[in-house]
Amino acid sequence: MSKIVLSLERCKGCHLCVSVCPTKALTPSGELGEKGYETVRVDEEKCVQCGSCYRMCPDYVIEIL
Ligand code: SF4
Ligand code: SF4
Repeated sequence: MSKIVLSLERCKGCHLCVSVCPTKALTPSGELGEKGYETVRVDEEKCVQCGSCYRMCPDYVIEIL
């Protein structure tokens, strides 16, 4: 089973990943990251490993292992 890994220190809070997630597994975290922007969190139970967030993120925050 794949696993999503988020390197949130690179997240700039654009939430493009949230907008493309088909199952709403990715949501705004309500917390500020190192850059001072609201990061995201992933609900692994809802994630279907489609890869859309990985392809969309401009800052290479998301890896699917
Ligand atoms: S697309 Fe990348 S930079 Fe933008 S909120 Fe999502 S993880 Fe952060
Ligand atoms: S891999 Fe797909 S289902 Fe999983 S968090 Fe990313 S966009 Fe959502």
